[in-house]
Amino acid sequence: TISMLALDKEGNLAGACTTSGAAWKMHGRIGDSPLIGSGLFLDNEVGAAAATGLGEAIIKTAGSAMVVELMRSGASPEEACKTITNRIAHIYKGSPEMEYLQVGFIAMSKDGTYGSFCLRSGFNYAVRSSEISNSLIDASYKI
Ligand code: ASP
Repeated sequence: TISMLALDKEGNLAGACTTSGAAWKMHGRIGDSPLIGSGLFLDNEVGAAAATGLGEAIIKTAGSAMVVELMRSGASPEEACKTITNRIAHIYKGSPEMEYLQVGFIAMSKDGTYGSFCLRSGFNYAVRSSEISNSLIDASYKI
């Protein structure tokens, strides 16, 4: 999945995501990316979030919508991403999927702060703004 969150100079948020879907997916499988609230969610009064990783896990938690709702309640983008990532880890704890499970979120709030969190290493995101020309950030991860 490749997702992008943007905040324009008037303070309006936008977001988009693409996906290749899961490897060896069943015919007809719908991943998280086309489902608003799962792979992508945005509320122009609060913030935006997007996900990558195992779509089924992201759908189960309405992951991106929950990240934005946590931000509405005062969590920073990184805290919100971390909470939902940990919720997914809790759901899958002890299951065979946990061996390969990867889930990551990026989020940006209405004030331009941003953050991310993922379950495993190997998840990067890039930031560009009037102050930051182009920076590649290695997201924090849990295990
Ligand atoms: N989230 C996608 C899916 O499960 C996979 C990906 O990260 O590209 O369909």
